[in-house]
Formats: sequence, structure tokens, C-alpha cells
Amino acid sequence: MTAPPGRLQLARDRLVFAVLGAAAFGAVEAAHSVAMSHLALGMGWSLLLIGIGAGAAGVIGLGVGVASLALPGRPVGRARWAAFLAGIVAVFAVYLFVALFTDPPPFQKPPPLHGSPLAWLGLTGAAGVAALGLYQAVRGAKNVATAAICLAAAGGVWAWSGSVAIGADRPSLPAGTPNVLLVTLDTTRADHVGAYGNTTVDTRSFDALAREGVLFSNASAVAAVTGPSHAAMLTGTGPWVNGVLLNGIPIPEQHRLLSERLREAGWSTGAFVSAYVLEGSLGFSRGFDVYDDDFGLMPGLAALLVPRAITMAHRHADPDWILERRGGETVDHAEAWIAGQSAPWFAWVHLFDAHGPYLPPPPWDTQYYAADPRDPAHTSMQAVHGIASYLLPSLKGITDLNYVLAQYAGEISYADSQLGRLLESIPENTLVVVIGDHGESLGEHDVWFNHGDDVYETSVHVPFAMRWPGRIASGVVTHPVEGTDVAPTILGELGLPTTGMTGVNALTGNRTLASSMCFDRDTNLAERKAGRISQPKWRLGALRSESARWVHREIDGRGEFFDLGADPGGLSDVAGAWGLEPEGAGQLQTLRETTSVLFLSDSSHSGQEHSPEERAKLEALGYLEPLEPLQAPKPGTTP
Ligand SMILES: [Zn+2]
Repeated sequence: MTAPPGRLQLARDRLVFAVLGAAAFGAVEAAHSVAMSHLALGMGWSLLLIGIGAGAAGVIGLGVGVASLALPGRPVGRARWAAFLAGIVAVFAVYLFVALFTDPPPFQKPPPLHGSPLAWLGLTGAAGVAALGLYQAVRGAKNVATAAICLAAAGGVWAWSGSVAIGADRPSLPAGTPNVLLVTLDTTRADHVGAYGNTTVDTRSFDALAREGVLFSNASAVAAVTGPSHAAMLTGTGPWVNGVLLNGIPIPEQHRLLSERLREAGWSTGAFVSAYVLEGSLGFSRGFDVYDDDFGLMPGLAALLVPRAITMAHRHADPDWILERRGGETVDHAEAWIAGQSAPWFAWVHLFDAHGPYLPPPPWDTQYYAADPRDPAHTSMQAVHGIASYLLPSLKGITDLNYVLAQYAGEISYADSQLGRLLESIPENTLVVVIGDHGESLGEHDVWFNHGDDVYETSVHVPFAMRWPGRIASGVVTHPVEGTDVAPTILGELGLPTTGMTGVNALTGNRTLASSMCFDRDTNLAERKAGRISQPKWRLGALRSESARWVHREIDGRGEFFDLGADPGGLSDVAGAWGLEPEGAGQLQTLRETTSVLFLSDSSHSGQEHSPEERAKLEALGYLEPLEPLQAPKPGTTP
């Protein structure tokens, strides 16, 4: 019999065990990082995260070790086992916590492994067993240095996991191939941009781009909601085809993104987004070598477990809480990535600033307003009602409506200044596309400081311009275009195929109508609870011609007509007046028919087949791929 080990010896044993527990914890984090593809910022960031992660893991492991010291002086083997089990239970408990607080937004399918306690139990158990095995192998040495080597090995695996997604083999592109830059401006109304006639709001960067390139004067977002609008731009299909009807719905894999196509063709691809709703796990990150959506409570640590758990708990407690970051930070990251590219690149940069709450940084916060916004003499805010809860703190005590409007304008000017920074930093041979994802109602149609629940001009008429020096002549395109045209336009100008996309090249496509959709959120949340999500309900649909907008109200079947020639803001419904004139009535009827056909296309999500007539109309409108190859016209007929 050997004498029981001294207390110091016991403490050292358990400390070594705790460090090994930390290594196990790091290994679990590494596996998680691979699963979530969060570590996509390259080796530098990966190494930084390893350091931070190892530190965090060490603190937790040390905690387990210290806790084990409090155990009564039983034989060391038993205490070690107790500490080991405690470590496993602790790690698993944190993951269970994350799983419980993963409250997916409406209709979101959780990403693989995310929120699956069984998956994490398996991973954690495997990591723990591996750590114990390592410990058994080195226990003869009984020194912290050996444990540190194990920790370093776990870190190495982590580093490797962060780099595997980067630098995949891809075809090399010929000299002279342009870079591609897509900038999306969140919540930006066309009528708040100089190029569209606004003489107050400073949007000099966009205006210069539009002057040097092409301005699309009649561009519509397909939905006044960030997720669906971006899904439409990146897939070249609208929500009526891809089913991304609300924020939080993942993009189905069969709809390939612009990024997937450009990466496959040889471009390096990077995305830099500024809001939680464009989180990569929803499918937006597909095809991107780098997807920078790190803007949680602790920027730089978003891939790690504890910050993520805190973020999710916060979100659980406050569903209206918006995770976002300033455009300046997003542009900093994009510029850093672009500067490191040696081959042609595609970058998507999303600027969220104009989205509420409207809190531009100095000097933009005072650019359009100099008075006291809380002066009781003002009465203009009394008419305002129905404010979204995420805006309320920023509007507390405000009595002057002009102040709020000025702050919104300030956010647009700030975002434009960041666009300007970005444009100054890129090489000349870059195809640049800048477009708004939707607008914002500032009281029009009785909607205050919000978007998403309508498809009027204020909510879906967006700024859209593109530039490719020496390749695209400058000018103004006046025919209607829509968000689904973004990817087909870029691919078309690069000479790449647009298979599966229903949008068209906005420069050459000659659309006559652009579509926008609004999905009834409340009804569909109720439907989802009742297990009937496969049959979504529309709320409003709109068609935009070069000079008019027609809105169909699904609820009461009523149509609204806006003559944009006489009423550019689309504020006065003249459906009655137009209905009295044969010409207007005819157009209204045509629009009503095309829109009602459009509504039927949601049957594609419920598994129902289109009737032959529906299918023919949808094909003619470009919303469905033809089943059969088009037949050559017979001799003597007009093609
Ligand atoms: Zn948006």
C-alpha cells in the first residue's frame, strides 16, 4: 500500500486535470465552429479566437478544478472521476442552456446540430473521453507542461478548422477580369436620394456613382423586409418562387446564390453584413469564403459559446432587440479583406444604418436639425402612433416630428459617407452595384417609421445604380426593374449563365412590370402554430409600371391605383377615377389578372400543381421555368 498523496500533490493533479478539461472544452468549441462555419475571417482572426477561446476554456476548466479541491480528501482516482463528470455535466449544461434559448424566428429551421442536445452530448462526451485518455497517457509525467501541449494541440485543430473553408481550389480568371462589389443600403427610400431629385439629403457618393454609371429610376424591392429582399437579390428569384417570405426563413438550397456562382467561376467571395436578420446560418453565407456577421454583444467573440449564450438569452428576453453594427465598422472589415485579395473578388457589403432606431453619429445627428426636439411647444409628434417597440427608447420625450425625419435623413447621409469610403478604396476595374433593400414609411399611408407590412411607393421604391468604367455607358434606365434582377444583371454583364433565375438583366431585360409582395405576418404566425405553414397567406401585392403602381389588397379584394406621373410619391389612390376611363379600366383589369395569377404561385410551396393556364401565365411572366423547351415557331407565323 502506498501512502495517500499529500494535499499539494492532490491539488496539482486536479489542476492538471482541469487544464485537460479546458482542452476538451476547446475541442468542443472547435467542432462547433466547423459546424457553424463561423470562423471565416482567415488565419489572423482564427488565431486571435484561439487565444481568447483557450483563455475562456481555461477559466471554466480551472473552475472545475478548484471546485474539485473542495471535495473531501478521498482517494485521488475517485475525486478525479468526480471532477471529470462535473466537467462534462457543466459543458453539457451550458449547451443545453443554449439549446433552450435558441428561439428561432418565425419559420426558421435551426441550422444543423444547433440546438440539438443529443449532438452536443455526443460531442462533449467524445471530447471528454479523449481528454481522459490523454491524461492517462501522460499521468506519469504529472506536469502542467504536458497538459499545455494537449491544450495547444486542441488549439491547433481549432486553427485548422478556421482555415479549411478558405482557399478552396477554384479556376483562375483571365487578366482583366473585373472585381464585383454589391452594396445594399437598408431602409433607404429613393426619394431621400439626390439622384432621385432630393435636394436636401446629402447622398453625394451614390449620386456620383449614378452619374458615372447607370441610374435605374423605377426600381422596386420585391418585399419591404430585409431577409426576403436580400434573398431575392442574391438568388434572382422572388419570394413567390423561393418561399423566403419573412425574416428568419432559410433560403432553400436549390436556389443558388450569386456568391455560389461567382465562386465557382473563380472569384474570391466575401460578405460583410450589419444586422442579425442576415445571419449566415440562414443560407446567406453560401458561396462566401468569408461571411462576416459578427456583431453580437461581444464583437470578435461571436463564435464562442458563452457570448453566444448571453446574446441568445438577451434575444429571448427581448424579441424586438435588433443586433446591428455601424456601417463604418462593416466597411472597415470589407476594406481589410479587399486589400488582401490578389485575384478578382466579389464583395457584398450591407449597410444597416438607415434602419430604425434613427441615431446617426456626430456630425450627422445635427446635420438636418438644430432646434430642441423636446421643446413642449412642438405638437407635431401628437399625430404619430403605432410605433414599433424597438424605436420607443429613441423617441422618448421627442415632441418634434421634424427631428425624427432629420435623424432618418442623417442616417442615410452617414451610410452614404461610408459608401463613399468604400468606393474610394476599390480598384477602377470593378463592377459596382448599389441598391436599397426597401424603403420606409414616414407617416404615409398611416404607417409611422416602419416597413414590411405594405408595398406602397414609400416602402418599395428604392435607389439602384451600377457602374463599370469603360464597359457600361452612363445613362438612366426608366423601365421598371426589381430586386430579382440584381444577380441576373451582374452575371449577364460578366457573361455568365443565369440558370434557374427568374429575374432579368436590368440593363437589357425591358421589363414592363415589376412586382412586390407583402406577407401577412400575424395570420401566418397563427397558421404556423396550427401546423399549416405550407399555405402562406398574402396580404398585399403590387405591380409597378414605368408610370404607375397598382396595389391589390388580398383581405378585401380591393385595388388601389397610383398615377406616379401626377403623384410621384404614390400617396393618392385614384382607382375609382381610372376605373371610369376605358383605357385605365383596361390596364387595371390586366394588372388585376396578372397579380391574381401571381398570388396563385404560392401553391408551389404547398405541393399543389399549377393548372395549365396558371402555369402558362406564370411562365409568360417569368415566374416559372418552362416545363418543356420552347418550340421553334412554325413557318409563316410571327415569332
Ligand atoms: Zn432591410
